[in-house]
Amino acid sequence: MVHLKTPLLNYINGKWCPSQATELLDVVNPATAQSLTQVPLSLKSDVDAAAVAAAAAFTSWRTTPPTARVQYLFKLKYLLEENLDELSRTITMECGKTFAESKAELERAIENVEVACGIPMLMQGYNLEDIARGIDEIMIRQPVGVTAIIAPFNFPGMIPFWFLPYAIACGNTSIIKPSEKVPLTMAKIFQLLEATGLPQGVVNLVHGAKEVVDAILEHPTIRAISFVGSSPIAHYVYSKGAAYGKRMQCQGGAKNPLIVLPDADMEMTTRIAADSAFGCAGQRCLAASLAVTVGEARHSFTNAIASSAQNRIVGYGLDSGVEMGPVITPESKYRIEGLIAQGIDEGAKLLIDGRNTKISGYEEGNFIRPTILENVNPNSIVAQTEIFGPVLSLMHLDTIEDAIALVNSGKWGNMACLFTRSGAAARQFRYEAEAGNIGINIGVAAPMAFFPFSGWKDSFYGDLHGQGRDAVEFFTQTKVVVERWPKDWSRQF
Ligand code: NAD
Repeated sequence: MVHLKTPLLNYINGKWCPSQATELLDVVNPATAQSLTQVPLSLKSDVDAAAVAAAAAFTSWRTTPPTARVQYLFKLKYLLEENLDELSRTITMECGKTFAESKAELERAIENVEVACGIPMLMQGYNLEDIARGIDEIMIRQPVGVTAIIAPFNFPGMIPFWFLPYAIACGNTSIIKPSEKVPLTMAKIFQLLEATGLPQGVVNLVHGAKEVVDAILEHPTIRAISFVGSSPIAHYVYSKGAAYGKRMQCQGGAKNPLIVLPDADMEMTTRIAADSAFGCAGQRCLAASLAVTVGEARHSFTNAIASSAQNRIVGYGLDSGVEMGPVITPESKYRIEGLIAQGIDEGAKLLIDGRNTKISGYEEGNFIRPTILENVNPNSIVAQTEIFGPVLSLMHLDTIEDAIALVNSGKWGNMACLFTRSGAAARQFRYEAEAGNIGINIGVAAPMAFFPFSGWKDSFYGDLHGQGRDAVEFFTQTKVVVERWPKDWSRQF
């Protein structure tokens, strides 16, 4: 892969071009505190240039047959696979997660490219002859036009792919704004997009932060926007974009409960719960951050999860054997440690304390070891805040009904998991839990690319979700044609 310039360039109309930004941010390795590059905080004028390019490209891209459009995605799949290790290293360096976690997220990105390669079938409409005598009705899907994708920091490789492959396979053109904290991964992926030979203007990259987002929301040419990030920003983006008349899908934050019934396989449950709570240092929107034991599960689960948390190997994600990396920024570490202190002040028992962690050789890194707070009050701030770090809050309840009531009392609805051997309990949970992604004996219920990523409540604003058929619907508008073609025009109708 070609070396990238510092500061990073935007990619507009098939060319790498400097942003008009006057402000640059350092992109910092969260494990070493070393600056990797600088990212420009692009301006409204950069978004304008990208929107003009994307609008110009749309005219001929939408007439390119779907079978021809997906050929670029086939190339992209092979390029992503060929560059998997290098891209995974980049994700680890700028985002902090382990090399294995970085590779896993890219594999999920590739899976979305593969699903979007089915667009010649997925994008088909439907029809019915003789809705009245001699009259036929046809539903056609057409692309919406220029689309934009705004991404968070925690999955720099995967999240834009919940949208991008579908957007362009359906005949739209697109502008991507990665998180300014982790822009390198997408910059490298754009080198691969360029290498596919995609026509200029079909995909565009604009680095930056709030000013770029606001320019996208207000831009008259941009028709549909996909956003992933924290709930307050998701809500802001959703409301403002909708007020500007755009089609919006905005995924927000989460506080995911994981319920353990007494009949659960405790060894499997603990292993999976620990991976869910502490994997990616808890910086996953599908991280289980509230574990609830029911009845007798209390003692066995508490002891096992505590020892699993204590034994987790924390360090730099590129070093072998490391199971958990740092959190993204010093500010994030400070905030998470503050929330742990607040939990203690609110009456929780500090079962495992991961604060004040120093990793030898990486003393400047933003490390926090796994932390467990027990007997957390459901009404406390710590129970109701998305901590987004390796902190598990533990509660003990008496019945599955109490546990489901707790799940449903939260304002988020991204994911809820149940661990049990009982089919009846599993069905009750699946039926009653108010969350869009449900795990039964699964700790990170991340839908595969051919299913929608279904957040509910404050975890999602909009209607159609990312991935799968929802993505195809989001990136197309339906047109219904009612036709009469008489053989005999002299007849009265
Ligand atoms: P964030 O909300 O801070 O940033 C997300 C995007 O919004 C970034 O591109 C950022 O530049 C932009 N942004 C930030 N502040 C803005 C503002 N005031 N106005 C306009 N744009 C702004 O989120 P983050 O910290 O990068 O990511 C973590 C959050 O994302 C967590 O809450 C996590 O749960 C959530 N997330 C959700 C999902 C999901 O599928 N529901 C997936 C991944 C992450």
